[in-house]
Amino acid sequence: MYNSSHDFTFAIVKPNAVKAGNTGPILAMINKAGFEITAMRMVKLTRAQASSFYDIHRGEEFFIPLIDYMTSGPVVVMILQHQTGNSVGRFRELMGPTDPSEAPEGTIRKLFAESPRMNAIHGADSKMNAEKESNFFFSGIERFYST
Ligand code: ADP
Ligand code: MG
Repeated sequence: MYNSSHDFTFAIVKPNAVKAGNTGPILAMINKAGFEITAMRMVKLTRAQASSFYDIHRGEEFFIPLIDYMTSGPVVVMILQHQTGNSVGRFRELMGPTDPSEAPEGTIRKLFAESPRMNAIHGADSKMNAEKESNFFFSGIERFYST
């Protein structure tokens, strides 16, 4: 059953990675890093959905190109739970920084990002946003919690 005290994060395999056939390798990295996938779906975002999801970046110079990119093909949305907790922080570490030229070896962005925009993966940046973003895509009945 859903319980807001549970630890989890929210992630998206972005269009360039799905298109390139890298969904499988990215999911394997996520599992190998100790995350369990507790909800997952493939979806093609509308401009309204992508704009609402990235509302915090509205007005930035990269906003319109970001919405063009995020609606350019299907994405895979998911909720992740790390077996040792701190799912948000551990997943940000596995992703690497926004600009892949700064990403360390072994991160998803080092391996699969094509540019600062087409950077293969999204991960929530706080517990509050993990909750908000998970609720944006998944209803309670689609979510389970691992103990
Ligand atoms: P992150 O995904 O690392 O949390 P942000 O939340 O700052 O990064 O930005 C959201 C997304 O917007 C990034 O993942 C990237 O796709 C795009 N983006 C951010 N900054 C830039 C930039 N300077 N140039 C191009 N795209 C950017
Ligand atoms: Mg962010």
